[in-house]
Amino acid sequence: MDFNFKDYEVWFVTGSQHLYGEEALRQVGEDAEKVAKSLGERPEIPVTVVYKPVMTDSSSIRRLIQEANAHEKCIGLILWMHTFSPARMWIAGLGELRKPYLHFHTQFYRDIPWESIDMDYMNLHQSAHGDREFGFINTRMRKNRKIVVGHWQDPEALAAIGAWCRVAAAWQDGQGAKIARFGDNMRDVAVTEGDKVAAQIQFGYEVNGYSLSDLTSYVDEVGEGQIQALLEEYEASYNLTDRVKEGGEFREYLKESARIEAGLRAFLKDGGFKGFTTNFEDLTGLRQLPGLAVQRLMKDGYGFGAEGDWKTAALLRAMKVMSAGLKGGTSFMEDYVYHLDPAGQRILGAHMLEVCETIAKDKPVLDVQPLSIGGKENPARLIFTAPAGPAICASLIDLGNRFRMVVNEVEVVDPPADLPKLPVARVLWDPKPNLKVAAEAWILAGGAHHSVFTQALTSKYVEDYCEIAGIEYVLINEETEIRKFKQDLRLGEIYYHLARGI
Ligand code: MN
Repeated sequence: MDFNFKDYEVWFVTGSQHLYGEEALRQVGEDAEKVAKSLGERPEIPVTVVYKPVMTDSSSIRRLIQEANAHEKCIGLILWMHTFSPARMWIAGLGELRKPYLHFHTQFYRDIPWESIDMDYMNLHQSAHGDREFGFINTRMRKNRKIVVGHWQDPEALAAIGAWCRVAAAWQDGQGAKIARFGDNMRDVAVTEGDKVAAQIQFGYEVNGYSLSDLTSYVDEVGEGQIQALLEEYEASYNLTDRVKEGGEFREYLKESARIEAGLRAFLKDGGFKGFTTNFEDLTGLRQLPGLAVQRLMKDGYGFGAEGDWKTAALLRAMKVMSAGLKGGTSFMEDYVYHLDPAGQRILGAHMLEVCETIAKDKPVLDVQPLSIGGKENPARLIFTAPAGPAICASLIDLGNRFRMVVNEVEVVDPPADLPKLPVARVLWDPKPNLKVAAEAWILAGGAHHSVFTQALTSKYVEDYCEIAGIEYVLINEETEIRKFKQDLRLGEIYYHLARGI
């Protein structure tokens, strides 16, 4: 997807005080500007880093934060206390801050100059305790924030800052984002339901329903020229099976898929939507379940959830933004079938049709095949396999009084065979720590069968997102042990019950 991170700003703000005199403050400003400039030039950090003057009193901090809140391009702040900055001056500002922020616990010089260190040096480079004073007031005010520790040229610290900047950009992208639902939820399904008003309050995006006639009026408008252009694009991008090639028995079905894609694209573009859901139980006026169209729209950065699953659609959009430009794909996913061989217990992830081609290892095959669900015309779909390597699955659920994010770290493996009769895109993975523990933990946590699967992001990104959103985050990984996991879930019940207040 196209996403220009440089359009987004992170403001680099340094705290100090007047105690040290003008010369020290000048030096602090000079050092901070160097750090800000360096961060902005690093490839790990994709956004624009803007240096802001050193803060030394409560009223200027408050003014700066009001400015940040109102600034459309500002997606968050990086805060650093170069010297000591008595933290009561931060109370008013932090109380009003509505943007995400990162506390960068760094120091201008990496090493102690053993031969020359004197009290002037000690006074100037005291983030070791200045940042602790600042940290205290954040904790005292119960503020969610990201803390990164390390020298400002330390690759680990830079990677952590870069990841957080991507998450902050995704958060900003989600504010006011619109998700379209065609039809309602798949009947009787529980986990795809949820409180859309609560989600708008918590995450900032809005979810609105549309009837299928809203969509079909766009699909019916699509002209032959648009269909032809899409068919050419398909031919250039995918390996078409004989039956969908020009003159093939299913060519007409492929043309209909192209018509649906063009109509859906136009609807989403006109309405300024960033994600959408479909429901195979309500396809009134459409001749096929949109498969290929959904796959291609996901590739372009649209969030998607099948069967009315708007939570996954919005989460996919957020994770698409976080991962823009990174290696590896991100897709809507479903835990489908198990391989329960004791020698290697695995999950085969797939969906009826809708898996994003960004996770394809090789050029996808484009085919039309019958679909046993939905009672419609044979739909077109891209068929491919995801490459081996680390990945995560993330699922957002609504527990009634709060949202919970469940993440599983997994390892994608190559399927042992070509699966020649499976007509959908697929991923085979080993969940960590193993299938038995991972599945038990996932089910205990209430994780859905739908998830966002990504080979571009680590669990840290999702954790940062949950911190910004202020929601519960549950991780299943190599260290997961069921007894401890149950305790964590129970603690979460108490904490989020109390933290929310009345
Ligand atoms: Mn599904």
